[in-house]
Amino acid sequence: MPIRVLPEQLIHQIAAGEVVERPASVIKELIENSLDAGARRIDVDVEAGGIALCRVRDDGCGIVRDELALALAHHATSKIARIEDLESVRTLGFRGEALPSIASVSRVKVVSRAAGADTGYTVAAADGMLTGPAPAPHPQGTTVEVHELFFNVPARRKFLRAERTELAQVQRFIERAALARFDVAFRLGSGRRSLAEHTSAETERARDARVAAVLGEEFITQSMRIEHEGAGLKLSGWFGLPTYARAQADQQYFFLNGRPLRDRLVTGAVRLAYRDVLFHGRHPAYVLYLEID
Ligand code: ADP
Ligand code: MG
Repeated sequence: MPIRVLPEQLIHQIAAGEVVERPASVIKELIENSLDAGARRIDVDVEAGGIALCRVRDDGCGIVRDELALALAHHATSKIARIEDLESVRTLGFRGEALPSIASVSRVKVVSRAAGADTGYTVAAADGMLTGPAPAPHPQGTTVEVHELFFNVPARRKFLRAERTELAQVQRFIERAALARFDVAFRLGSGRRSLAEHTSAETERARDARVAAVLGEEFITQSMRIEHEGAGLKLSGWFGLPTYARAQADQQYFFLNGRPLRDRLVTGAVRLAYRDVLFHGRHPAYVLYLEID
């Protein structure tokens, strides 16, 4: 084949593979945007494991009418403006690539009403074409709908697993988000079923309940709460007792400055703390938060 420059739409579809692999990655990007927008409540609905539909609705700051189309444009972000800003980003996103990437491999609809605006507006993107903004009713906040993921990229669609497997991944992501942000309410629905409902957890009891909802009631009764501060670090959370150790390392949650982190160094360090109290081949369970300022 001769060398040729690829059409823009195709470039984006290929690049989208780095951001979007499956419904759970769509949900991740949309939830991160909601959190960046200061949402206190995030509602997630999926159909067919998220392949047919991922819908995330939040009560965050919303997007003003004239910026709605920009939200779907490549390299467009409200989170940084200069290279220096990279050193101090506190938001989960900043590349301005999530929504446009998702839009290049699905059909996206955004409805949003900005704080202080008296109505909402909607834009839709499909096949590289944008329609809107048109007025649409919406309470303050944003709803993003992602329809028919990979409908136009059969090669990627082939790599999707069974609906229930994709759904399980979405559920796992919501669980991590719920553990990361006790101050935010989360709900997950699939079709007509409600799969998770986490009201915002402001008290210790409510936080225990949320942890129990994810790891099980038994974890809470068989764990120790810790809270430790020193040397500019703050470590807090729940340590499962050795009696609660598991055959699999499936209940190990670690958050660094509010972001889920899976890291060998951390896993190894926690393991080390358990070294004298765990039987060989057993894995500790924990939910830990490390804050570094
Ligand atoms: P990034 O998060 O890296 O900035 P995205 O493509 O995920 O890029 O989003 C682009 C922009 O759209 C964001 O910078 C933000 O201004 C706006 N946006 C996206 N989702 C929301 C939301 N749920 N609430 C408010 N603004 C949003
Ligand atoms: Mg983002």
